[in-house]
Amino acid sequence: MFLVGLTGGIGSGKSTVTALLRSHGITVLDLDEYARIVVQKGESALNQIVKQFGSEVLLPDGSLDRPKLGQIIFADESKRKILNSIVHPAIYRRLYFDLFIYFLRGKQFVVLDVPLLFETKRILGFLNCTVVVWCRRDQQVERVKERNDWNDEEIENRINAQIPLDEKRAYADYVILNDGPTDNLVPQVTKLLGTLRGKRSHWKLRSAALAVAGSIAVLACLTVKYFTKTHL
Ligand code: ADP
Repeated sequence: MFLVGLTGGIGSGKSTVTALLRSHGITVLDLDEYARIVVQKGESALNQIVKQFGSEVLLPDGSLDRPKLGQIIFADESKRKILNSIVHPAIYRRLYFDLFIYFLRGKQFVVLDVPLLFETKRILGFLNCTVVVWCRRDQQVERVKERNDWNDEEIENRINAQIPLDEKRAYADYVILNDGPTDNLVPQVTKLLGTLRGKRSHWKLRSAALAVAGSIAVLACLTVKYFTKTHL
């Protein structure tokens, strides 16, 4: 199995591309979804958050009061670091477990939808290739304006908090241009999938796993043989 990193900028159309990929039966693991799941009621990360930040970050039903926590960490960098130190390991533990299961199920590749792929660089080293969904900055602003209830300043701040899309585009192995109608995405996604399906990189990990499994089997046989001989 190999991993493909999918990213973009806010409003560039990453979720739209993710939906298209999923409609082709591709497994796309969204790191934002993981971030939501690991702080659900009953999860150990939520208990740790309550220990650190107090029960005032909980809603009456016991679930996380995201806006409240957001206010706390927005105002205090050290608290944001504490929160990340709780949430990030929980996200990656779950992600690695799921990836292991997909590997066992014989997936050729899995796409990881990572909004801040190039900003955090955290998983870049594990990826076989990267895909950036690109559009012009004025289109980003327009699309976010239509989608979210944010004022111009908020939108600018959020876009400015990310690496510009023109720069991300230069880092990417494949670029999906989303500066036209959404229909234009369809042939680009089909072409990308053709390229990914044509790759043979999944054999690297499979061969390594087969080699390890083979070595363990040989060792086990030799051990059994040795003990049967010495005890006869
Ligand atoms: P991201 O996940 O990168 O933030 P989305 O896929 O959610 O971006 O797209 C942002 C908004 O723009 C959504 O409301 C989406 O429907 C819309 N959108 C995406 N692509 C296009 C396009 N090519 N033309 C017009 N609107 C688009």
